Amino acid sequence: MLLASPLRAPSRSVLPMPLQLFGAARANSKGVDLAAERERLPLLASLAVPMPAAPNDTSVAGAAAAMDALHAAQRGWNATPLTERCAVLLRAADALERRTSEFAGLLAQEGGKTLGDAVAEIREAVDFCRYYAEQAAARLAPQTLPGPTGERNELRLHGRGVFVCISPWNFPLAIFAGQVVAALVAGNTVAAKPAEQTPRVAQRFVELLHDAGLPRAALALVCGPGETVGATLVAHRRRAGVCFTGSTQVAKAINRTLAQSAGPIVPLIAETGGLNAMLVDSSALPEQVVDAVVQSAFRSAGQRCSALRLLCLHESVADKVLEMVAGAMAELVCGDPAEAAQSWAVDVGPVIDAEAHAALSRNIARLEREARLIARTPLPERLAGTHIAPVAFELKSIGEMREELFGPVLHVVRWRGAVDALVDEVNALGYGLTLGVHTRIDDRAMRIAERARVGNVYVNRNMIGAVVGVQPFGGEGLSGTGPKAGGPHYLYRFCGEQTVTVNTAAAGG
Ligand code: NAD
Repeated sequence: MLLASPLRAPSRSVLPMPLQLFGAARANSKGVDLAAERERLPLLASLAVPMPAAPNDTSVAGAAAAMDALHAAQRGWNATPLTERCAVLLRAADALERRTSEFAGLLAQEGGKTLGDAVAEIREAVDFCRYYAEQAAARLAPQTLPGPTGERNELRLHGRGVFVCISPWNFPLAIFAGQVVAALVAGNTVAAKPAEQTPRVAQRFVELLHDAGLPRAALALVCGPGETVGATLVAHRRRAGVCFTGSTQVAKAINRTLAQSAGPIVPLIAETGGLNAMLVDSSALPEQVVDAVVQSAFRSAGQRCSALRLLCLHESVADKVLEMVAGAMAELVCGDPAEAAQSWAVDVGPVIDAEAHAALSRNIARLEREARLIARTPLPERLAGTHIAPVAFELKSIGEMREELFGPVLHVVRWRGAVDALVDEVNALGYGLTLGVHTRIDDRAMRIAERARVGNVYVNRNMIGAVVGVQPFGGEGLSGTGPKAGGPHYLYRFCGEQTVTVNTAAAGG
């Protein structure tokens, strides 16, 4: 059943332009050559293999015990030579790359990923392992600092202790892996809590790390509900830092737990949600805009923190762009999970679970009452319970935007007047993750970028970025604390710093 014939290729005949639908794109923005991957992985043979059993939830007492054990093991792991810690990551990267097909099957089945998204996510996880290994080797070794004669000053970086890494379901491999290997390579032991929806992918990656030579004592997979098991890890007196990716509300809850529990003051690295806007001015090329809009808003069924939520169209181009967006949305192919897992022709897979489906449906019903419907992708009846059809609504003003809707729902507003005022309105939403700008006016994009309080700006292209080492990713305000994942400063947050000042004139100096 799983290896049934792939979905039909979408007809491009009624497209207003040669739009690159997701499955058909030659290279996605992660730099993955999808055409080459398609040659290599025409069908996922591993889908014939049943899904592994999900790991059992850890009890609250078990989570606390894991923290104590990780604390006891940290000194030993931190003392492991940096070169060996880096080598573990490099071996893991090679193994993950070899097992692309198996992990793609898992991602598709457990998280509803389309094949293109799954392959890109595996590549991102591989890149995290290699990049952090390279960065650790270059940055974490002891350094001698300049100082007065007769004195030697050394700066030493070390693991802080037990890092608690808590991840979401929407990138259950790449984010989980990125957090965990960054914390490990810096010399921490790690309590890794994946989202409740996606524990199998996490478990497989943990096994892969151990097979690559990571001592069992250095990493514990701790599964279960965030409010109980996750909160136990955060509140534990042995935590030395928390690395969290997920919703803004939960980041705030973690902050409260940290403030209210006994134990040391520790860093919280939080990557959270966004109300990401794309600003389109009168000089923009509509063809370029429509491709960027459809990719940014609906890829991964809109379940990306970076996804476009608010399209701000200058009134002079609004009608034309909206007509083209509607045409492109009509061409998107929604596919069921099994089809999504094996066919490159599926553009939009399911949303993660029934709860997310219900919340999105409620909000769409509200928007149907309050806003103007622009377009909706056709959804086969059999997918109505699992998918949300990509949909776009026009609002009267930016002030009508509410909280992040984590699905394929696009809000559109028209604007006129000064672009600076528009940027200020977007800033006033309080989030600061991604921003798209479409303009052909000299210097305008850079001026907008300077004024915008966001972490990642994309000019005249889509907003799907986060390329490790190339576009390090992270936000500010309600969107997170930084530093950016996949960037050169990220590893420092996982490290303690110590200076040693030696009087070299004294005996033994
Ligand atoms: P979520 O906040 O509901 O859950 C994230 C994780 O936190 C899960 O593992 C959950 O079990 C845990 N958790 C929940 N309550 C907790 C508590 N009180 N204490 C400790 N842990 C707790 O998020 P989600 O639904 O899994 O993921 C979607 C969200 O993640 C969206 O808001 C999206 O924008 C955001 N996200 C952000 C980025 C980024 O890089 N900025 C990337 C991916 C996803």
